[in-house]
Amino acid sequence: MSDGKEAFDAAVIGSGMAGLTAAIYCRRYMLKVVVFAREPGGVITESALVENWPGEKAISGVELMEKVRAHAEGLEAHFIFGEVESIAGRAGGFAVHLSGGAVETASAVILASGSDRRKLGVPGEKEFAGRGVSYCATCDAFFFRGKKVAVVGGSDSAAASAELLSRTAGKVYILYRRDRLRAEPVRVERLERAENVEIRYRTKVVEILGGDAVTGVKLDDSTTLAVDGVFVEIGFEPANRLARGLGVKLDEAGFIEVDEGCRTSVPGVYAAGDVTTGTNRMRQLVTAAAEGAIAAESLFEDLKQLPLQF
Ligand SMILES: Cc1cc2nc3c(=O)[nH]c(=O)nc-3n(C[C@H](O)[C@H](O)[C@H](O)COP(=O)(O)OP(=O)(O)OC[C@H]3O[C@@H](n4cnc5c(N)ncnc54)[C@H](O)[C@@H]3O)c2cc1C
Repeated sequence: MSDGKEAFDAAVIGSGMAGLTAAIYCRRYMLKVVVFAREPGGVITESALVENWPGEKAISGVELMEKVRAHAEGLEAHFIFGEVESIAGRAGGFAVHLSGGAVETASAVILASGSDRRKLGVPGEKEFAGRGVSYCATCDAFFFRGKKVAVVGGSDSAAASAELLSRTAGKVYILYRRDRLRAEPVRVERLERAENVEIRYRTKVVEILGGDAVTGVKLDDSTTLAVDGVFVEIGFEPANRLARGLGVKLDEAGFIEVDEGCRTSVPGVYAAGDVTTGTNRMRQLVTAAAEGAIAAESLFEDLKQLPLQF
């Protein structure tokens, strides 16, 4: 692995709150750290309003994460944007393989890969992603002004998305397979009163239809509903692909098992944020930040004991 490139002490996967906080703490420990991510900021950048980050009464997710990233950059954390394909190696010598073929090396790894949106898995979903199929109402509501849209799901975040869309879309259908929304009662009441919202219970989408873009959905009673947009809001699952590749122990739901030091079952591999079983499974910004800091501290302590491989 000696291609002339200097190895990093720590490779952090993810530039959400967990990954960026880990990078900040790594730099405070004067570790050479690189952050890998598909995009800056992580999942909270989808939220227009954050009201529980201490010190900020109300701030958009984008603005908050710009501040955190600037903090990490100011401390000279290194950033590489792109898809991490796989990670191989062992404590003291890991190779991080990027989708473009580049390889970076690091003595230890912090997995802060967050979660992925759960997919419906029906025909048309993949084909029309970005052409009418969306997983983020905050990001895409603007494109459906005055149009008909369907929100698939019945959780609180599905209800929140439907509410947001009802402010701009012409008509919002909530399509839910159960017989009662699992959202905050206040929100359910508001949706039930809204004139442009129709909730259809015991309804499953079996196909998303369209030509150049979405034109409708086929339902499990064989009828078709004409819509211009489909917002899939059926939850999240842990983004554990890289962890699986490393042989890291996961819980039954696929979250990375961590101890109180955010250590995983594989030496030299740490995990933080939404992807873990840590901090009482709260999966909030403050707990992601806390785990990022703890993971960096454990890594710093363990690194002192490790013989370097590069
Ligand atoms: C709509 C919404 C609103 C929310 N509102 C709040 C709120 O008001 N307050 C609150 O406390 N919490 C809120 N949350 C929860 C909060 O956003 C999360 O708990 C927190 O952001 C998790 O941070 P994280 O760093 O663990 O993961 P994420 O922010 O999901 O970051 C994961 C990172 O990993 C990267 N990544 C993953 N796999 C790869 C790979 N293979 N290659 C390269 N990069 C990869 C991604 O690009 C991303 O940068 C909200 C969540 C959502 C979805």
